[in-house]
Amino acid sequence: MLKRIGFTRNDLILVAALLVFAAFGAWRGVNIGVSSAVAEKVIIRVNGEVLTELPLDEDRELGVTGYDGGFNVVTITNREVYIREADCPDLLCVKHAPASERGELIVCLPHRIAVELE
Ligand SMILES: [Zn+2]
Repeated sequence: MLKRIGFTRNDLILVAALLVFAAFGAWRGVNIGVSSAVAEKVIIRVNGEVLTELPLDEDRELGVTGYDGGFNVVTITNREVYIREADCPDLLCVKHAPASERGELIVCLPHRIAVELE
């Protein structure tokens, strides 16, 4: 179901961007000096309906079919969740920084997919 494609230059750019975001997140955490509410599970919704709930402490990757038939690849790794890949036009979901705190939300509006941390 989940089609694997090769490691492209775009993937490398994405990984670099994610590392920068992760570093920034760590810096921000230290800067504020407050331990944030760590999330325990990932709730994936499609068009408002819960598709699945996954524990945040189990690394896995899930292909999610959106409302309009588009796809998103939701990746859970290292107690963080992010959308690794999607075929939506804006790719805002893919550009979103990895989320790890309770209440954080990553959405793909074109596909009506919401990844929420709880
Ligand atoms: Zn998207």
